Amino acid sequence: MDRKSFLQSLLLLPLTGAAMNLQEFQKSSSTFKTTEKMPVLFYGHGSPMNAIEQNTFTRGWQESIKNLPLPAAILCISAHWETRGTFVTAMKQPRTIHDFGGCPAALFAAQYPAPGSPELAMETKKIVQQTEIGLDDGWGLDHGCWSVVKHLYPEANIPIIQLSIDRTQSASYHYELAKELSSLRKKGILILGSGNMVHNLGKVDWSKQDSGFDWAEEARNEMKNLINKREHRKLIDYKSLGSAFQLSIPTPEHYLPLLYTLGLQGKDEKINFFNDKSVMGSIAMTSLRIG
Ligand code: ZN
Repeated sequence: MDRKSFLQSLLLLPLTGAAMNLQEFQKSSSTFKTTEKMPVLFYGHGSPMNAIEQNTFTRGWQESIKNLPLPAAILCISAHWETRGTFVTAMKQPRTIHDFGGCPAALFAAQYPAPGSPELAMETKKIVQQTEIGLDDGWGLDHGCWSVVKHLYPEANIPIIQLSIDRTQSASYHYELAKELSSLRKKGILILGSGNMVHNLGKVDWSKQDSGFDWAEEARNEMKNLINKREHRKLIDYKSLGSAFQLSIPTPEHYLPLLYTLGLQGKDEKINFFNDKSVMGSIAMTSLRIG
């Protein structure tokens, strides 16, 4: 599609409220100024209760952005938004989604009223070439995203969008798509992945509050080892890494945000791990910061 017809097509896009017009789009092209390269983070989010608790994990999250300039906006890839095709939230005011059950009323009452960023949604759509990114006006912020970001920016003053996980695509697709987002890092955009490296709800063991099964520990340690050695190809082909990995990643959605994060790792960038613990036998809270 040439530039003219692309711009014209934007006029027809259904967005919340008023459709974004050409003038607004042109303005959005220059919305994000060049900055120092922002870090990229992966958060093990664990229980939704972390949204309203203060504990060692939420303190680790708060620490993770210390000394960071305020981002211009946040792009979050959460395990809890799976779609057919790839989408970004493009509404001006995303709703807080309470996508969990059996939790106390206080958690259902919690809100995270950060503004959206139609500008960042457009920018993301513009820079990704390998697929057509759809603009979504129906989602919002799911708990994979807001339960963490609420601790990072409690004032809810940083515009935020989510990028969905296309459930029909391979792990390799997600890793490669992440690479196309890298220019955002130099525009003040903080990119976050939120999932869990090890996540098997069917094996949760309440007697193992602060520890993991042997297979969970084996997979967690081997993941860190491969991350440190930058063996991303092996991490993409996680299905061939044996039974500990199969038990730890029974479905891919909580693991894929990690691959997005790794896809954004620059050549010489180091990785720092934090919250490096297992809980409930089958969930790893291990998180990392790149850059
Ligand atoms: Zn989750």
